[in-house]
Amino acid sequence: MTTDFNLAPQISSLIAGQDVTGRSHRIPVYYPATGRQITELAEADAHDVDLAVAAARRAFDKSDWSRWSIERRQNLLMAINAKILDHADELARLECLNLGVSMHELRDRQIKRAAYNFRFFAEYLGQRKGDVYDQITGYRSIVIREPVGVAALIAPWNAPTALASMKVAATLAFGNTCVLKPSEQTPLALRRFVELLHEAGVPDGVINLVNGRGPVTGEALVAHPGVDLISFTGGTETGRRIMTSASQRLKPCSLELGGKSANVIFASADIDRALDAALVSIYSNNGQQCLAGSRILLEKSIADDFIGRFVDRAQKIHIGDPMLDATELGPLGSAAHRDRVLSYVDIARNEGAELLTGGARATLPGDLAGGYFMQPTAVLAPSNRSRVCQDEIFGPFAAFLTFDTYDQAMEMANDTEFGLVSYVWSDHLPSIEAASRDLRSGVVWVNTTMTRDLRTPFGGYKNSGVGREGGAYSEDFYTELKTITVPQAPITVRRIGTDT
Ligand code: NDP
Repeated sequence: MTTDFNLAPQISSLIAGQDVTGRSHRIPVYYPATGRQITELAEADAHDVDLAVAAARRAFDKSDWSRWSIERRQNLLMAINAKILDHADELARLECLNLGVSMHELRDRQIKRAAYNFRFFAEYLGQRKGDVYDQITGYRSIVIREPVGVAALIAPWNAPTALASMKVAATLAFGNTCVLKPSEQTPLALRRFVELLHEAGVPDGVINLVNGRGPVTGEALVAHPGVDLISFTGGTETGRRIMTSASQRLKPCSLELGGKSANVIFASADIDRALDAALVSIYSNNGQQCLAGSRILLEKSIADDFIGRFVDRAQKIHIGDPMLDATELGPLGSAAHRDRVLSYVDIARNEGAELLTGGARATLPGDLAGGYFMQPTAVLAPSNRSRVCQDEIFGPFAAFLTFDTYDQAMEMANDTEFGLVSYVWSDHLPSIEAASRDLRSGVVWVNTTMTRDLRTPFGGYKNSGVGREGGAYSEDFYTELKTITVPQAPITVRRIGTDT
């Protein structure tokens, strides 16, 4: 095992502020850019999960955490924001070692975003509102929100800190406690993140980290009777399992799941801008993102020129060492995942698709020779029903389709089990208006690539998820509503059980 990276030889769980090393399984952790093992993970089993939930329960039920004043909570959230920004380089480097996404993207976007999530909720708390009902004469009912309790937070491997931090920030902002389970593939940055939260002043037990595989650690967490709500981001099949388990105990869950998003480009679009965005939408984060614009639908009159320019640019994408800022495409998350993504090249060929570019491993020199690199790939699909247009491939793999009419474009865009986001490009206002209405997805981005405003609801239609997160929508999920009704003067109560 290499020790070049100065990592702890073993990554453990962190429960009530203490290292918990786990008693059973050890899982190797690899650097995807070299394919070398860099450390190992001590898996939390059901017993460790039990300890973590018990710690979260104690912090919720027995400490004053859930009743902290808004000002105190805001100060803590801002302290976390500052702590993350102070350690942005360190966190980005740890994330890079697990994920292979370029340092530039991690440090300047994802880690900054993780810090911002805490600032966002600190500011949100200062603007909270409530409801008062006084239509019944002589009475006033107020509606207050209270924390729900212990949250199970389950994060995927493709953007661990950016995605988990949103859940953690909302959990803490609204006074809950939590147990966080990262993907066993990407434990490094989140382990440090939880340490930093403690350094910033989060009391022991409020956030607990359990590391391990989904079917072991994750399932034990989701099924634990001490958990009150579940926030999950990951694949659709896993989401289904989690909701089934949660339904047995009637626990609310929020599920942010997969996508196969359409990027619809009309001839009326600013084509240069649409081209830049189409490349970023499919190849950034090494193509591994739920939001990827992985189906690119082109109006026929612009298709040949657009595809030619897209392919030319895709071939110039700088594949390389993710630790270097200049790198535009790093390795995929694991060897198995790279092989799965590449298997779609044969699937595409067998379906009659035309391979436009890429379609093979990318071989890099030196240390990087063992990395899980592949070329940016694009195919022209024979139809939207083909698997490359229906399956979430989750890699740097674009599928092009063409259309003649607006109706065809909408029909293809919506003909999918998913409905997370859609992109539409046009400078023709009526087309934009119509497409914004007709696209069946939780988000429609018009003439822009991924632009998330945390005040707005984020989540998917159809098999892309259940529930929404962001601003007031997170508040809805992470709080219980309580109605308190008070008469405005002493009331006369109907008397029963008297002699008269
Ligand atoms: P998975 O569904 O495989 O895993 C997600 C998380 O769930 C991991 O921590 C995993 O653990 C855990 N897990 C797996 N099985 C179980 C189980 N039975 N019970 C509890 N937890 C379990 O997804 P990936 O990590 O592969 O992430 C990629 C997927 O996430 C894609 O489909 C992508 O679209 C989606 N995603 C959705 C987003 C959205 O906002 N809608 C954003 C980002 C990604 P482990 O990995 O350790 O096995």
